[in-house]
Amino acid sequence: MIDIKTFMLVMAVGNIAFAMLMAGYVRSGSAHPAMGMWKWAKVVQGMANLLAYLQTDGAPLWMGLGASTVLVLGIMIEAAAYCAFFGYRRWRRLLYPLTTVALLLYYLAALAGASARDLGVMLSLMIALFSGAMAAALLHPGRAASDLQRIIGVNNLVFSVAMALRACFSSAGMVLSGGTPGVVQSVAYIAGYLLMIVNGFGFLLLCKEKDDRAMALLATTDSLTGLVNRRAFFERTESARMLAARLRTPVALMMLDLDHFKSLNDRFGHAAGDHALCVFSATAQATLREHDIMGRLGGEEFALVMPGTCLTGALQAAERLRLAVLAARLPGLEEAYAMTVSIGVVAIEEGEHINAALARADHALYVAKSAGRNRIEAGQPVRQCA
Ligand code: GH3
Ligand code: MG
Ligand code: MG
Repeated sequence: MIDIKTFMLVMAVGNIAFAMLMAGYVRSGSAHPAMGMWKWAKVVQGMANLLAYLQTDGAPLWMGLGASTVLVLGIMIEAAAYCAFFGYRRWRRLLYPLTTVALLLYYLAALAGASARDLGVMLSLMIALFSGAMAAALLHPGRAASDLQRIIGVNNLVFSVAMALRACFSSAGMVLSGGTPGVVQSVAYIAGYLLMIVNGFGFLLLCKEKDDRAMALLATTDSLTGLVNRRAFFERTESARMLAARLRTPVALMMLDLDHFKSLNDRFGHAAGDHALCVFSATAQATLREHDIMGRLGGEEFALVMPGTCLTGALQAAERLRLAVLAARLPGLEEAYAMTVSIGVVAIEEGEHINAALARADHALYVAKSAGRNRIEAGQPVRQCA
């Protein structure tokens, strides 16, 4: 069986080691803000474990209450860190008064002469509730969760159940305190140890996972319009083209360029131009299907790939897009600038490289511009281009 004193010391060392690791990571400057809170949770929990380790049999009641209070505060900070991480502001606001009420009830019970066993049951229930709440936040049904998140959530759930069982067995009369714990007590401690390891590394990895996702988004997204950037557009288009070649389905490609955009910038300023680019992207995207890929290649030039669409379908889609852009409004500039777009459309041919198809679409765009703008032109097939 587990020796509780040794266990408390191991937990204290483990929690403080995690706090040191987190402190180092937070100092790197790029850490998620919730990580700072998490670090303090580990410090406070480590302190609670140390107090429990130092406590001797027959120590005054206030010492036991003090150690329990520090432990509950540590777990509360941990739950607050999860709330900050997941953006649960309302829960975070509720957390502090709920903890205060729970601790007040605990002190009142102690003052009213509750036995050590009853106080132990109350403490186990508080910890079970906190852990259960963290499991609910991590396993939040109806929300996409990563495998990592699920693993940490299940661990919290297991610990919550172990603490609830501990409370039940204790109130049913099983002796749980003292140097030689029973099976239920040992299971609760092992679950607690597992949780310290899984939560400690897990939270670090969760923050890292979130940062990596944000970085990947930054690397593939145009920050102004939210469309895919040039690099990501070529990557996705190449995959769409290869899949279409395999399935023997058509793929259409468009090059789009806003008309007289320089004059908008010159007359109304760069900010008005930026706003127009956002309105254009949102308007164009609203006319597209989910798996169409629209990217900003640079400036006011965009490209669009439509998997499963032949030239005729793409010309119809281009006309829908052209009309939508014509109807779009730029607040405050309605009278002064009518936004229009010129479009060159081609069907990517079998074995044709994306750059070659883009060049054909670009040539069609040039024809549309030369013919007066606010127009759509179909590109020449490869054979006639050669
Ligand atoms: P055309 O009808 O022939 O396409 O004429 P245009 O004026 O639209 O074309 P041109 O290529 O001469 O001008 C593009 C302008 O787009 C020039 C540049 O200042 C502006 N531009 C490029 N990137 C941005 C941007 O991110 N924001 C803003 N506001 N303007 C940009
Ligand atoms: Mg232009
Ligand atoms: Mg241009």
